Amino acid sequence: MKIICIGRNYVDHAKELNNPVPEEPVIFMKPQTALVVNGKPLFYPNFSKSVHYEGELVLKIGKNGRHVNEQFALKYVEEITIGVDFTARDVQSRLKEKGLPWEISKGFDGAAAIGKWITLEDWSKPIDFTLSKNGKVVQQGDTADMIFSFAQIISYVSQFFTLQMGDYIFTGTPAGVGEVQIGDQLKGSIQGTPLLSFYVR
Ligand code: ZN
Repeated sequence: MKIICIGRNYVDHAKELNNPVPEEPVIFMKPQTALVVNGKPLFYPNFSKSVHYEGELVLKIGKNGRHVNEQFALKYVEEITIGVDFTARDVQSRLKEKGLPWEISKGFDGAAAIGKWITLEDWSKPIDFTLSKNGKVVQQGDTADMIFSFAQIISYVSQFFTLQMGDYIFTGTPAGVGEVQIGDQLKGSIQGTPLLSFYVR
């Protein structure tokens, strides 16, 4: 399986990092070894001093497809959850400055935390989600504010990478990203349903 991620998919987050609002989705990948599941902790990487959380809705792909038409794209989604796209921001900034790929800053072990999967009755309705840190809400997102919809993302990604059953897509983070420290607890929910809870160790 592969983990595909969309960057800068909410205008307010693109602005907070001084990034231009993209005309096409920004895509990157994480290796499967980045996954953190079942409430297991993220072990803070020793090569960074500024690991940021990015709370995001994550889609699980339910069937194989390439060149998927936007109109049928939602049929490729099986389940959804909330996840955290961890980013070693200091490493990423250093690599970005040099114009180099920032894989390490996004793909390290533990950089993709995933909650419990759920299914939705109506995939076309707006979905809201929250991420909290140590009991305080730090990010609130709503799919109505996404630059590229789930359908647009799936259609776009499948032009370059064949989607396979079991692939995950991180769909981008709203504003409010920030640092985590060892000992922090992160919790995520979709439409008020708690799906994710784990510690940074
Ligand atoms: Zn992200």
